[in-house]
Amino acid sequence: MSLRLRLTLLYASLMGGVLLLFGVLVYFMVSTMLVGQVDNSLETAYNEVIKGAQVNSRGSLDVLTLPRLDLSENVFVQVWGRNGKLSATNISQITLPLDPAGLKSPQTIFEDSYVNQAHVRVLSVPLQVNGRGIAVLQIGSSLALIDTTQQTMLIVLGVTTLVSMLLAGLGASITTGRALAPLETVTQVATHITRADDLSRRIPFSGQPTDEVGQLIVAFNATMARLETLFSTQRRFLADVSHELRTPLTVIKGNIGLLRRMGGSTDEESLSSIEQEVDRLTRLVGDLLLLAQAESGKMPLDMRTIDLDTVLLEVFQQMRILAGERLQVKLVDIDQVEVIGDRDRLKQVLLNLVGNAIKYTPAGGQVLLSLGKQNDQARLLVRDTGPGIPAQDLPHIFERFYRAEKSRTRSSGGGFGLGLSIAYWIVRNHGGRIEVDSKEGAGTTFCVWLPLAFEGTAR
Ligand code: ADP
Repeated sequence: MSLRLRLTLLYASLMGGVLLLFGVLVYFMVSTMLVGQVDNSLETAYNEVIKGAQVNSRGSLDVLTLPRLDLSENVFVQVWGRNGKLSATNISQITLPLDPAGLKSPQTIFEDSYVNQAHVRVLSVPLQVNGRGIAVLQIGSSLALIDTTQQTMLIVLGVTTLVSMLLAGLGASITTGRALAPLETVTQVATHITRADDLSRRIPFSGQPTDEVGQLIVAFNATMARLETLFSTQRRFLADVSHELRTPLTVIKGNIGLLRRMGGSTDEESLSSIEQEVDRLTRLVGDLLLLAQAESGKMPLDMRTIDLDTVLLEVFQQMRILAGERLQVKLVDIDQVEVIGDRDRLKQVLLNLVGNAIKYTPAGGQVLLSLGKQNDQARLLVRDTGPGIPAQDLPHIFERFYRAEKSRTRSSGGGFGLGLSIAYWIVRNHGGRIEVDSKEGAGTTFCVWLPLAFEGTAR
């Protein structure tokens, strides 16, 4: 669930909760007050009635004479005798007790009751003369007005709560939407930086960072600026060092040749060993220089339309000889595929991948190559039946100088851990991508995707 939706729901339910609590309180307070007022009016009416009541000359109270009542029409009086008969009333239409339960009560009580389906509040008072019950006086008042008031109150409170929840939700959604909008830009730019390895991108922001998001953007941009400086310094250093190392290596190599030609007391074995190491160092320096150029996007590429299938065939022939009897290198599938790219660099990618497959697959294994098209892309697969790459190494194999634990402990023949980084950058500079699928013990598959050349593009 998005942050925006979560905040919207939170504000709406908070508003709803507060108003509901408020509504319940108001409802009960007003209801209690209104019923209290009715009870007061019933008591007043009772006092009026009692003031005008008389006991007859026989000493017993069979009949009560109701005085002239100056009461509002909403007050109904009934006097029920001991014999259960209605002895006096001001509403002749009602012959049933206002509150049947109240007739039996030994004490004065207030109760709600229904008379002819009308909701009434009834005060029942047992009347006594010399400790003897002579009648029960019931005074009632209609609760219709209070019921209507309560209903209206419920509707008003319910509607107010709902409308307020909607408004709170809407307000929260708009405000958080506005507040979070710059964060979406942050995410987009950050994703772009990761995808395109473009550290020069910044999040557009002008003015003072007054809020948290502004501060975040300023801090993010500052981090990116620092990272960019660090990366470019590192790349420049790498490029400079490899460039500077090339000259002394060439000089050493030249001198080895000279020494050999002079003959004399030189030891051929030592010379060959020096020469081998110089060759190795020269390769390393060449790779480093290439990598530095590729990473900075300054790799000189001779872009032309090339037949990738021909390049693959060449690599296949070359590598089959290298694998010799030890392994089987097979061309499973090959389609005619044209791409735009630098022939030598793409060949280097293939040599690196197939070279690795041969290097890491034990004797008796297989290396399978295939080339085809999928949508607008050329797809090249290099599959081997080797030991696979452990899961913990897999995310790092395209990093420079990274070698899986097993390869590092291999005594001889190991590379520098640059081959895949170079392949990655070359493919990337061609607008393609390189993927790896590997499970320990189940072989490795490298897949290179490159955009196909279309008719009309450079030839
Ligand atoms: P290296 O010069 O060590 O081969 P790479 O950059 O070409 O360097 O490869 C990096 C690491 O990836 C290797 O050290 C190896 O552990 C692993 N690797 C590459 N290709 C394969 C493969 N086909 N099978 C198993 N492991 C591989």
